[in-house]
Amino acid sequence: MVIGAGPTGSFLALALARRGHAVTVLDRDPGPAADGSWERPGVPQFRQPHAFRSQIAEALRAELPGVLEALVADGAYLAEGQMGVRRSVYEAVFRRALSGEPGVTMLAGSARDIRTDAAGRPVLISDTGISTADLVLNATGRARFLKHRRTAGLDVDSGLAYVSREYQVAPGARDEFYAGARHIWNLPGYLVRVFPSDSNVISTLFVRRADDRDLTVLRHPEAYEAATAAVPPLAALMTADKVRPISRVYPGGAMRNIYRGQLTKDEIDTPGVIHVGDAVFSPSPMYGRGIATSLIQARALLELIDAGHDRDSVTRRFDAWCTGRMLPWFHDQVLDDAGVIGMWDGGDLEIDGRLPSATITRAVAGEPRWRDVIGQYLDMRVLPSALAPVEVAARERIAAGWRPAFADGPDRQELLRVIRGSVNRTSPVRPAFAARSAGSSGHKSPGTSGAA
Ligand SMILES: Cc1cc2nc3c(=O)[nH]c(=O)nc-3n(C[C@H](O)[C@H](O)[C@H](O)COP(=O)(O)OP(=O)(O)OC[C@H]3O[C@@H](n4cnc5c(N)ncnc54)[C@H](O)[C@@H]3O)c2cc1C
Repeated sequence: MVIGAGPTGSFLALALARRGHAVTVLDRDPGPAADGSWERPGVPQFRQPHAFRSQIAEALRAELPGVLEALVADGAYLAEGQMGVRRSVYEAVFRRALSGEPGVTMLAGSARDIRTDAAGRPVLISDTGISTADLVLNATGRARFLKHRRTAGLDVDSGLAYVSREYQVAPGARDEFYAGARHIWNLPGYLVRVFPSDSNVISTLFVRRADDRDLTVLRHPEAYEAATAAVPPLAALMTADKVRPISRVYPGGAMRNIYRGQLTKDEIDTPGVIHVGDAVFSPSPMYGRGIATSLIQARALLELIDAGHDRDSVTRRFDAWCTGRMLPWFHDQVLDDAGVIGMWDGGDLEIDGRLPSATITRAVAGEPRWRDVIGQYLDMRVLPSALAPVEVAARERIAAGWRPAFADGPDRQELLRVIRGSVNRTSPVRPAFAARSAGSSGHKSPGTSGAA
């Protein structure tokens, strides 16, 4: 039985069914409506732009090539191994595949708890009834399911938040978005990125400090468009002859880094249940790792199941594998997220302890001898520890005076000033924004306290 039909659960359910297992999938979200609309309230990042790292297409090619073909048929594009696709399109293709898969039974309902019967088999209690399974895979993401049974684990607020919008690109302008360099700019106090995805649809994204109350104004379309026009390289791309908005603005909440293993005090926390995907490791999305790390886990788990180990041995081996191969990425992400905020706050580099990987890779950027290892790290082919010798070289560059630089463009204060100037001409946004700006900024970092 698989609980959760998000990217992790749907991949595992199909892969297990194709191995001949009878799989029941339970998800509280019944899937897209008949007209194709899908609100997906339990997955707040559903509409946020997602990078689909090379491990995802690789996993699909190895396990579910028909699903990869269906994604491409629905407009997803593949370039240098990576896939460009809206998450809503990706998940809709998987839901179709699940409902057409002979070995899969789909149930719509919420899992409530799991107990163990006298034979040691897991018994699932859900609002669809009570059922016993040989094995339950908990792929419910960061949701609270089974939280009361599991060890607290590691949970660190990234301090960062997203706001994004989708646009349709005019056919003649496609190459500007899809060919060549990635469009990503780190500016003083915020970050901007463009995500090319399926069917000539792109998303733009602003990342702000989660506690930067002033920049929450970006949730208003007028403010979002004003900010887009204020960042010169973004403004050059996002002209009316090249793009038109096709969605509302999607604000996001605070983003966390979470890691929880399978064991509590060396005991399996719920016998017969294996947690997988975001239910084990949920990274903040700054490097777009979550679905890749989920499918990397899923493939490692499939390998253990295929090897025929007994149930508890699979659980313990998978836990050890996650400790070795996922936990280092948790620590890496926590450090990098803090590095982004430290840079926005304008302090000097924090050089005690390990440097953030982003600092290491940027400090030696362009040095041919580190190119391979940095490329492998960025593609998650080697663990962050592989950067140890590069860190030594990075520290030398820092000692010689190197510091990370921002992209050209307005800093946070200037951005707010421009947004304010624009939205003052349009009534719907002004009252809330003016009230917030005049009172407290809610943003604690020095030098960013509101009035611009
Ligand atoms: C803002 C944001 C941006 C992101 N960007 C990227 C990116 O660019 N690239 C990337 O790879 N990753 C990204 N991620 C991470 C990615 O979204 C997650 O890693 C991914 O969703 C994990 O998939 P999952 O299937 O494990 O969990 P989920 O996607 O959370 O799916 C869990 C499923 O379980 C169901 N469920 C939950 N509780 C129950 C219950 N009690 N009973 C029944 N069903 C239940 C839910 O309905 C859902 O279908 C981002 C995350 C955030 C927050």
